[in-house]
Amino acid sequence: MRQELGIATFEDLLFHFPYRYFDRTKLNKIAEINAQTEYVQIAGILINIGEEGDGRKRRLTATIYDDTGRIELLWFQGATYMKKNLREGDRYIVFGKVSSFNGIFNIAHPEIEAYNSETNIPGMQPVYSTTEKLRARGVTNRSFAKITQSLFEKVKRHDIPEILPGPMLSKYGLCDRYHALLWLHFPDSEQHEQLARHRMKWEELFISQLMIARLRLQHTQQHGWRFDKVGDLFNDFYNNHMPFQLTGAQKRVLKEIRQDTATGIQMNRLLQGDVGSGKTIVAVMSILLALDNGFQACMMAPTEILSQQHYQGVSSLLGKMGIPVRLLTGSVKGKERKEILAGLADGTLRVVIGTHALIEDNVVFKNLGLAVIDEQHRFGVGQRARLWKKNELPPHVLVMTATPIPRTLAMTLYGDLEISVIDELPPGRQEIKTVHRKDMARMQVMEFMRKEIHKGRQIYIVYPLIEESEKMDYESLMAGYEQVKVWFPDNQYKIAMVYGRQEAGEKERNMARFVSGEANILVATTVIEVGVNVPNASVMLIESAERFGLSQLHQLRGRVGRGAEQSYCILMTGNKVSEESFKRIQIMVSTTDGFKIAEADLAMRGPGDMYGTKQSGVLKFKLADIVQDSGLLDETRVAAQELLTQDPSLTHPAHQGIRYMLTHQAQQSHWSKIS
Ligand code: ADP
Ligand code: MG
Repeated sequence: MRQELGIATFEDLLFHFPYRYFDRTKLNKIAEINAQTEYVQIAGILINIGEEGDGRKRRLTATIYDDTGRIELLWFQGATYMKKNLREGDRYIVFGKVSSFNGIFNIAHPEIEAYNSETNIPGMQPVYSTTEKLRARGVTNRSFAKITQSLFEKVKRHDIPEILPGPMLSKYGLCDRYHALLWLHFPDSEQHEQLARHRMKWEELFISQLMIARLRLQHTQQHGWRFDKVGDLFNDFYNNHMPFQLTGAQKRVLKEIRQDTATGIQMNRLLQGDVGSGKTIVAVMSILLALDNGFQACMMAPTEILSQQHYQGVSSLLGKMGIPVRLLTGSVKGKERKEILAGLADGTLRVVIGTHALIEDNVVFKNLGLAVIDEQHRFGVGQRARLWKKNELPPHVLVMTATPIPRTLAMTLYGDLEISVIDELPPGRQEIKTVHRKDMARMQVMEFMRKEIHKGRQIYIVYPLIEESEKMDYESLMAGYEQVKVWFPDNQYKIAMVYGRQEAGEKERNMARFVSGEANILVATTVIEVGVNVPNASVMLIESAERFGLSQLHQLRGRVGRGAEQSYCILMTGNKVSEESFKRIQIMVSTTDGFKIAEADLAMRGPGDMYGTKQSGVLKFKLADIVQDSGLLDETRVAAQELLTQDPSLTHPAHQGIRYMLTHQAQQSHWSKIS
């Protein structure tokens, strides 16, 4: 069980909750059974016990009837044993799953018991998830129920002490912990089951909100470097090298950052801004602020392509002022790497851009004052924490994300951070026109793209990436590429191609051909998803769009509409699309508002696999669902804040249970790395 379900202790068992219940308080009539029936419980008289077949195919059959009809029962295993224990003409109660064979209903391997006036009809029977392997070894749902039942026979109320203070229970209408656990496994009524579920969800959310609130409290007390001057570099850049006028939102965010970094407390700020809203310039100005105050700064991105792009962008901006910038990724090796590491250690190199190669232990900074993290959702909370150890005081941290994060998720994932939002796009942008086109319209689509190219525009064509099969991806990309070459023959058009496993040098050369405008078309997999910036590109064609998630589609669409020209996003699908995919595509066609799309995405998919939450380990709730339970989330957040106001260090005797839970939980998640 340990390997299969991660259950090693009694406690794990207690927290392996049933995912549903069979309501065994009710008896069904045989005549009620229809094609939709799943499980039934029937009381009736057993007749026609007989054996069929022989050897391995031997099986036992019997019929049970009540006053409305009859149904066949089947046993493929244990026939001899069953036969010995069943008697024709006796009354039995039978429970099991209904299936049908040639239109006739039957119940295979039912639970069967003699039925008389003393028979206890079980209440709600828990159903646990098990695995194929465990079932094969006889650990069925039924045995789970038995183990848990016997656990509850041994466990006394005082063995499961309350962890929440009494006043909290009454204030929020929560039942005690012992009953919550008992009723979750063996509810004696639906009301109790709901009460129990409510209590345990509340506890889960409360503990997570409390961890976040404590972290935030810790942040507000964590001393940081004081950036008290806006110096020469910042001003020189602002006055002489700024490529455009900052938007109001960009100015506001910069002001927030300046205020944060001037207090002497470490900044932990999340900068949310939709694709193309202009976060890079904010990062660059923040870096200048750090340099002006005598510190080093780094910027971290999740992929090589992205860090390269940032490197090019940032070094061309800072290069004008003679500030050297270097790129450090996993593929930077040998002498170059040595040089960079030495420069960072002795402080001669002041700005470095890179991937997570930057947080490796052997990267030592002389005085890192600011870390900008782009596209945060791919970095775990723990990785963020590692950065803090790079200096005697932790650097200020600016986390940037282009994925608008719905409020409930932000509260859970980034509740410890201050939040800035760039809610205004740079001027002159036109809304991207988005359309859904099916395969049969391909010719018109290609015609349209040719026209765009002849106007001097560039085009992205993106193919999906199936993580499970890189080989298939590669093949479908190549097949696509050949197709594109047929539509756009190479004596007239220049096509560049990039994909995940391409050799780094080749990838770079191809990207460069597109960025410089030499190539008209970039054929790619989702490697271009985030951050790539080619303002002249006006069409984003997404092949097999039904296979992309909403946030991915949104990210991809954000690659166009970056210049002054009208841009288009064309979502190509097969002629037939599933309802779910169609819904996603409709959302994309109807709005370009990243927050709306994110909310829709969260509602459709749930938080389980959004934004890399799996890696972060922060959202592993057993019962709670931050979308459906957003009301509870709000309630627990307030409760957590109230508690910390009363007792910031949780030293009060009544809070020791909570304190225990916090440490316990922290050990099981990435949170432990933070403190
Ligand atoms: P993102 O927020 O997606 O990282 P970028 O920082 O890459 O966006 O900016 C997108 C594009 O908008 C870039 O070409 C950038 O130069 C341009 N840009 C950013 N801010 C402004 C502004 N205030 N006025 C005009 N163009 C801007
Ligand atoms: Mg960006």
